[in-house]
Amino acid sequence: MTAFRIGIDLGGSKIEAAALDQGGAMRLRRRIPTPAGDYAGTIAAIGGLVAALEREIGAHASVGIGIPGTIVAATGLVKNANSTWLIGQPLGRDVEAALGRPVRFANDANCFALSEASDGAGAGQGTVFGVILGTGVGGGIAIGGRILVGANAIAGEWGHNPLPAPEPGEWPGPPCYCGRSGCIETFLSGPGLAADHRRHGGRAMESAAIAAGAAAGDLACLATLDRYAERLARALAGVINILDPDVIVLGGGLSSLVHLYEEVPRRWGRHVFSDRVVTRLLPPVHGDSSGVRGAAWLWPL
Ligand SMILES: [Zn+2]
Repeated sequence: MTAFRIGIDLGGSKIEAAALDQGGAMRLRRRIPTPAGDYAGTIAAIGGLVAALEREIGAHASVGIGIPGTIVAATGLVKNANSTWLIGQPLGRDVEAALGRPVRFANDANCFALSEASDGAGAGQGTVFGVILGTGVGGGIAIGGRILVGANAIAGEWGHNPLPAPEPGEWPGPPCYCGRSGCIETFLSGPGLAADHRRHGGRAMESAAIAAGAAAGDLACLATLDRYAERLARALAGVINILDPDVIVLGGGLSSLVHLYEEVPRRWGRHVFSDRVVTRLLPPVHGDSSGVRGAAWLWPL
């Protein structure tokens, strides 16, 4: 049995790799820029990272990889990746050939959910919904410590549902790159938050600057964060009605907005079909390590 597990987070701008020991502790970590637009270079970079980590730990390891998008089981080809040079490529087969071993793949939001469900904020809980609030909005579901993939390999992908219970001014909503309008992502991603601030007369500034402005008492920034919490409450109420998770863990850059953990559960009850909501909304335990950790967890010890 392999004692070490290597997890790789294949992102659009960087590839991160980590080696976890038997206890789940991270022993080594490496980060390199992604050879963007270069498929063969991406395969070679993954091969180089695995070889370097195995040399340092002095052992052969299992390898799990989190990717943007998903590998379609029927064809083995990548779909839905915002790293577009991966789309339509037989990534699984090519990486396995390069590494000379079976490799497990999962969507990066699913890796986040698996990491937090395994030994993070959702440890020991039955059903965990992991939410990514970043450049985009994604999600993953872990049930009993295992990823729910789904028939179309999109389980948990709530970002392109329409924002529920739209108020005046929210309908039909901003156009989305997916071809629809008013998607949850157009309101709850970082760029979505910044665009909402501008639509309400605020200055052009990024989400981190808006958060800093709110902390300093700027009324326009505070109002923007208030609208954000209200919309997240409505969007997550829809998830609770269907999945009824024990824990919802926030990840991605906007998970650092501390007001969400009080404001959102205070507001979601109005939209949930239950007189009492016991679902907890929690910050991530592993922060931006969740991608590599969840990928490593794709292979149980
Ligand atoms: Zn969309």
